[in-house]
Amino acid sequence: MGTRLKVNERDGCNTSIPAQIEFCKVTKRYGEVAAVKDLSLIVPRGEFLTILGPSGSGKTTALMLLAGFVAPSEGDIFIAGRSVVSVPSYRRDQGIVFQSYALFPHLTVRDNLQFPLEMRGMKAAERVKLVDRMLERVHLNDLGGRMPSQLSGGQQQRVALARALIANPPLLLLDEPLGALDRNLREQMQGELRALHREFGTTTICVTHDQEEALTLSDRIIVMRAGKIEQTDTPAGLYDRPQTRFVATFLGEANILENASFSLESEAPPLSGTVAMLRPERICVFDAADPDRAVDDQRQCVTGSVEDMVYAGPFRRYHVRVGNDLIVAREQAASGQQIFQAGDRVRLNWLRSDIRFVRM
Ligand code: ADP
Ligand code: MG
Repeated sequence: MGTRLKVNERDGCNTSIPAQIEFCKVTKRYGEVAAVKDLSLIVPRGEFLTILGPSGSGKTTALMLLAGFVAPSEGDIFIAGRSVVSVPSYRRDQGIVFQSYALFPHLTVRDNLQFPLEMRGMKAAERVKLVDRMLERVHLNDLGGRMPSQLSGGQQQRVALARALIANPPLLLLDEPLGALDRNLREQMQGELRALHREFGTTTICVTHDQEEALTLSDRIIVMRAGKIEQTDTPAGLYDRPQTRFVATFLGEANILENASFSLESEAPPLSGTVAMLRPERICVFDAADPDRAVDDQRQCVTGSVEDMVYAGPFRRYHVRVGNDLIVAREQAASGQQIFQAGDRVRLNWLRSDIRFVRM
């Protein structure tokens, strides 16, 4: 743990206890459309929770409800045990970063950061100290005097995060906060966000449609679909044990083996209404002419021919025709490894226990 910026003790702001959040059967309707349906959820203090889902699934609405920008049509929302549905947004102690949440364009970086402290009535000398520390914390020491328009996208995003965190709010709300950044910068900022969360311990709710971002950042993820929670779990739980076809295919790649043309072996018998799922990286690819390797009674082995090989840097993706099925296998690049091309005959094998059944 690093040092927490303790705004509150000296300056009489609200005590900053990380908040616990509870959604209790919350529905939000826009006319005929229910953007969020009967949402119940508890977020323990200090958790980094990500709301993940495709566009239009209700993620932003859920966050707006929490921020107090929209009111629920039904249900109640509690922060630290208190119903907040009648508390206006500006009275809620929260830091907010939206993708398009612009910095004040007419204020320098330094003044942008001072703003939330000034709003809380902090004295000038204290403000300067906190701003200095925060600028250092987000590696922007030399840029305090610049205007937002003189910063790169990544720098602006760092200022926005710093501004959201500087008053050490009990709750941090992020809506696609890194959406505008290119890949390298996004990864760098993900690391920064993780470090800030470790340091400040702020209860954080982050909305994204980016599965990789969700997996990297979160203690827990909720997957939303059409206004409802499809599944909630840790990143590893969600990836390794998806319960539905929607989650399996939305989060990572999945072979859905529906009516497989070969007899599929699994550890557990399939339940009705489920379909078999196998992650591409769980499949090993061998030359069909080679003697069987790595096959024991825990693995199933099938033979097929490569229809396509897609080079993706650290791994290759093989599309392999096995009877009527097209199976995608993903092989990590390793030195000395045999590489297959379209037309090659290959043997695929995987652990029976890697076959999972997901609901349709
Ligand atoms: P997401 O953030 O997951 O993309 P949103 O929460 O923005 O989804 O939207 C969920 C659904 O609610 C969508 O169908 C959207 O069109 C609808 N919606 C959102 N905001 C409004 C609004 N202000 N008026 C009418 N419909 C809205
Ligand atoms: Mg949105």
